Amino acid sequence: MNISLYEKFFKNFNRIIIKVGSSLLVDPHLGKIREGWMESLAQNIAALMEIEKEVLIVSSGAIALGRGSLNLMEKNLELQESQASASIGQIALAHAWQSVLAKKNVKCAQILLSPDDTETRRRHLNARATISTLLKFKVIPVINENDTVVTDEICFGDNDTLGALAANLVEADLLVILTDQDGLYTADPRSNPDATLIFEGMATDPQYAAMAGGGGALGRGGMVTKVRAATLAARSGADTLVVGGRIDNVISRLHQG
Ligand code: GLU
Repeated sequence: MNISLYEKFFKNFNRIIIKVGSSLLVDPHLGKIREGWMESLAQNIAALMEIEKEVLIVSSGAIALGRGSLNLMEKNLELQESQASASIGQIALAHAWQSVLAKKNVKCAQILLSPDDTETRRRHLNARATISTLLKFKVIPVINENDTVVTDEICFGDNDTLGALAANLVEADLLVILTDQDGLYTADPRSNPDATLIFEGMATDPQYAAMAGGGGALGRGGMVTKVRAATLAARSGADTLVVGGRIDNVISRLHQG
């Protein structure tokens, strides 16, 4: 067991952001929530709340769910189509989080951010104050990009970056990025059988950016954005874990080291 990770979870990591990618949350063929997986995550989150951890969720999935509802899973979407999909899917996404967490007696709130909210000082302070108040009331902020109002030029672009900026905004101790890959490899494991999993390193080490590749079909990120997110999160002192989230009970298993 990795004792240091285990101990950090109990002692140093109090404010934890869990970023959930579209490909984990949404079935890529059906465009519907993977309910069993989401329920196991909610159970793990409730367990963290019970030991007085503050949890924030950065959740992707709005566009994927909206596509599903419009039967557009296979299409390359135009900007307006992906914004329309996001506006449809965001309701379903917020509702799914609310109902899955309510079953564990945990309350949540929806926060939709655009770059102005982290870059303009007054809006930054407002967003921070609202999120702090939610945390004080033991309500989990469920954060996503406000996809319907951003444009290609002015957007966070991917939720790995949004997760890191949220970590800066609330001075989180830990950013956990749950992804459909097993973690960061020395090379792309889909094309290189010699690739090995990287256990620990400094995000700013340039070798990691060079090792990381692009993303999959549903979400916008990839390992590149995850390495960049880790570097950004480190600016306000947060550690980042890039974790293969396909297994059930992933957060409790991390918590157990
Ligand atoms: N905000 C997008 C959504 O909810 C996801 C962006 C990403 O894949 O990183 O669909």
